[in-house]
Amino acid sequence: MKSKQIRQTFLDFFENKKHQIVASAPMVIKNDPTLMFTNAGMNQFKEYFLGNSEPKNNRVADSQKCLRVSGKHNDLEEVGVDTYHHTMFEMLGNWSFGDYFKKEAIAWAWELLTEVYGIDKDCLYVTIFEGDAGEKLDRDTEAYDYWKELIAEDRILNGNKADNFWEMGAQGPCGPCSEIHVDIRSDEEKAQVDGATLVNMDHPQVVEIWNLVFMQYNRMADGSLQNLPAQHVDTGMGFERLAMVLQNVQSNYDTDVFTPLIREIETITGHSYGKTEQEDIAIRVIADHLRAVSFSIADGQLPSNNGAGYVIRMILRRAIRYGFTYLGKKEPFIYQLVNTLSKQMGDAFPELKSQKNLILNVIKEEEASFLRTLENGLALLDSMVATMKNDGVTTLDGKKAFELNDTYGFPKELTRLILSEQGLQMDEDGFAKALKKQQEGSRKASATETSDWTTLRDDDTQEFVGYDRLSGDVRISKYRKVVSKKDGELYQIVFNMTPFYGESGGQTGDKGYIENASGDTVYIIDTKKENGQTVHLTKNLPQELEGPFKVTVDAHQRARTAANHTATHLLHQALRKILGTHVEQKGSMVRSASLRFDFSHFSKVTKEELVEIENFVNARIREQLPLEENRNNTYDQAIAEGAIGLFGEKYGDVVRTIKFGESQELCGGTHVKNTADIWHFKITNETAVASGIRRIEAITSDAVKDFFAEQSKNFEEIKEILKNPTKSPAESIAALQEENNALKKEVEQLKKAKAGNLKGDLISSAQLINGVNFIATKTDLDTKSVKELAFDIERDMENLFLIIGAENDGKATLTVILSKNLIEEKSLNAGSIVRELGKHIQGGGGGQPHFATAGGKNAAGIDAALEAAKEMV
Ligand code: ATP
Ligand code: MG
Repeated sequence: MKSKQIRQTFLDFFENKKHQIVASAPMVIKNDPTLMFTNAGMNQFKEYFLGNSEPKNNRVADSQKCLRVSGKHNDLEEVGVDTYHHTMFEMLGNWSFGDYFKKEAIAWAWELLTEVYGIDKDCLYVTIFEGDAGEKLDRDTEAYDYWKELIAEDRILNGNKADNFWEMGAQGPCGPCSEIHVDIRSDEEKAQVDGATLVNMDHPQVVEIWNLVFMQYNRMADGSLQNLPAQHVDTGMGFERLAMVLQNVQSNYDTDVFTPLIREIETITGHSYGKTEQEDIAIRVIADHLRAVSFSIADGQLPSNNGAGYVIRMILRRAIRYGFTYLGKKEPFIYQLVNTLSKQMGDAFPELKSQKNLILNVIKEEEASFLRTLENGLALLDSMVATMKNDGVTTLDGKKAFELNDTYGFPKELTRLILSEQGLQMDEDGFAKALKKQQEGSRKASATETSDWTTLRDDDTQEFVGYDRLSGDVRISKYRKVVSKKDGELYQIVFNMTPFYGESGGQTGDKGYIENASGDTVYIIDTKKENGQTVHLTKNLPQELEGPFKVTVDAHQRARTAANHTATHLLHQALRKILGTHVEQKGSMVRSASLRFDFSHFSKVTKEELVEIENFVNARIREQLPLEENRNNTYDQAIAEGAIGLFGEKYGDVVRTIKFGESQELCGGTHVKNTADIWHFKITNETAVASGIRRIEAITSDAVKDFFAEQSKNFEEIKEILKNPTKSPAESIAALQEENNALKKEVEQLKKAKAGNLKGDLISSAQLINGVNFIATKTDLDTKSVKELAFDIERDMENLFLIIGAENDGKATLTVILSKNLIEEKSLNAGSIVRELGKHIQGGGGGQPHFATAGGKNAAGIDAALEAAKEMV
């Protein structure tokens, strides 16, 4: 069965069992502070399990894109090394929110696998939770009893808490689970070793394919368990593993999900899959990581230096490194695979087609830049190796290896490999220690302690009224304390209704205050959205918690933020009009002070275009376009009306559209009532964020006034410095520049003359030692002049050994140049000479046999170095 059909069969099966089929949520998570990426099908339903909101349908099924590369689920190191863990994979799942429980979940899973897909029952094993004395939990006999109706009892195995008790996190819903494992070994192998003994033993052909989780408890902050008010089912089956079983192959990489990519890698690299283990691992790593990175970019998450972007960058770099080391690829090549991926999966995931060029360019650029890093790291490591050999050391200091990794992005595995090729090794313990120290540091910095919610009232829904009002009468539904190193002690408060906008869609959260009848006031310093509810952050709790309270949003901040949000829509419209419809939003930040908008576009936006864009937005402001808001649209209807949606955003059944003239977007943010309220729009900056992604920063309303006031102040200051010139300030500055250039040239000529004199002096100072013309001198010339001088003398003198020690700003450099004949005749080598002499100035260096330099921090050692050089002749 082809993979496409396998996926469809799963969805059809559960649709028949009255499940609503929903779309995969984006892989990058935006409103859950505990999770960066979707790592299981249940993530998008977390708010239902937590009871924060009510599902429309209590039976749901889907295929969810998952990424397991950080936090609780991190399979990165396994991927490629084994044949059944991926970074990105599809998880097929069915859910019951307080509806059916163990009986149906077990029966349907069995029916689908054995009757619909036709998997041989003798290949299957199941596990159930054996109980745990410490947790005072009994064995899951309920699940056992359902299973024994379906499968031989010797195929039902007990599993411990680690394998068979699922928890959402340190706190929250949890419960026993029951897993289904397949044994796809050959009959001979099965005859030799009983499959039951291999379950959960990391055997590549005895693997878990489906996990059925039965949520029935709630883990409290103190570690205790309480019964959940309603019981839920959460299942997850690995799509690629299922394909492996149904396509009768022994590895996920031999299914039609992966073979087109692997064939293409073979073609591009000239290495065949299935020859050597090392190359196979590299090929698997590249095929897998390409998928993860491409889907992330399509979801709007570009590689970057922090957060989710950093994780994506690390995945891609792992693939580049494997290609570099084991497939000998020193030039970018992974990007070429995007074509194959988009052809192969573009039907099921159209974003891969529509964003193909962007994905391809971003990957290519990342590859090129990381390959440069690798080259630099190699040079650095080479000089370390030379020093080690010189000093007779065979183990590279762990700290140095870590620094190579941490500062220069040079991977540990590569360091180890290169060292071993030279008969050297790396201090693994020292590396591990340095890594641990760094990790502990960052863990401490980000550790948070979250207490349980204290519930005051059972309000199931929390209404948001902030589109219409900035204040309201509320009561506290629940609150909890959160302590973190970063923010100190904070309280999170949830009201029964709120006018406060919680940070989302790039717009920052509202600030304001709560106040009770007797005037007790508490400030709300920020508002966030978390798992479907709006959480207000305060430094302390009101003295009286009962309420009622009056809550008020900071209107000034809100108005400025709204102006920036509406301006962002107009900017988006302007970009598409002026630059073209290839422009897609790739990131947005709307704050009260300014706005920032990232978008796909392949060249720098020119000055003229920026002016045109500014003019376009300001024209819409002058037209005084009124806000036309529709809070009750369906997604399809809105798109049909021409509204722009954002890929990688999770939209509900009901969407809100925001229209100002011809600008129309799906948006949950707050806006001005009329574009005239924006007053004026001014672009302050245009830069590149990544290959093919530009960023525009801009300001509106009061901020524009402040901006021009500041500019005019600067201008006055310049005039003052120029002593109120008769010419315009620009002309005066140009004249100053011209004068400055002339002076620079003059200095340059004087320097040359000085060096010329020096040259003559040096040539006549040469000493003839062992038939070699030896010259040593100390100077304060800069590096460039020293180099010119050295080559100049070398041209005019034979049998030359010249060493120049220079001191600039307290730093020392040594420059050695040798006549070419000396290299052979006297086996002298400028590279090794400077490395040796570098010790005197506490530094290192290298170069070619003919010419080499060393730099160091001990200028006082220059004389000793010159002295030592003489000894070498
Ligand atoms: P394993 O022990 O094999 O790592 P798991 O216990 O981590 O699996 P679950 O968290 O229960 O797996 O996920 C549900 C299903 O998703 C698994 O039964 C498996 O089929 C699939 N799965 C889990 N991790 C991966 C992965 N990294 N790549 C591909 N499929 C996976
Ligand atoms: Mg796992």
